[in-house]
Amino acid sequence: MNQQGDYGLWQCSKPCHYKTYDNEETVRKMVLAQGFAIAEDGTLTVPEGAALKMTVPSELVPHCPVCSEPMSMNLRADDTFVEDEGWHMASAAYADFLRRHEGLHVLFLEIGVGMNTPVIIKYPFWQMTAGNPRAVYACLNYDDAYCPAQIAERSICIGGDSGEVIRRLLQDIKKLE
Ligand SMILES: [Zn+2]
Repeated sequence: MNQQGDYGLWQCSKPCHYKTYDNEETVRKMVLAQGFAIAEDGTLTVPEGAALKMTVPSELVPHCPVCSEPMSMNLRADDTFVEDEGWHMASAAYADFLRRHEGLHVLFLEIGVGMNTPVIIKYPFWQMTAGNPRAVYACLNYDDAYCPAQIAERSICIGGDSGEVIRRLLQDIKKLE
């Protein structure tokens, strides 16, 4: 779900209109322009002897196609967050999922959610876990893996690099197969 936004999308920084834009192609160009090489799996490497520029050509700086103001990340950082059609569809699918799984054995898996806007994901997850005795709450977080005492019995809190934790979980699942 993308309740909190998506680093893969840009929006007008004002915003003058409610639309988001896929930024993968431009971000790739920015990365390459800085001197990185992109491997097939997406890993960034620095070719031998290459010096990183740490800047991008100004023509790659994104501007709004409507009002020409700079674009910004589609993130819920402040009240300029754009909730476009894609966001509303994802939001409706999420609400629908919750309705269909009320009272069922459900896992609320939270990955890397900080305390900037906990009312969007973290607090609802805690509340829904508290309200459903069959629910389980799992929290993967670099240095803030915790839960309220009230739901501790049905919670799994794992501190550490979420990417690394997920890689190891997948390895363990493979061993069980
Ligand atoms: Zn604009």
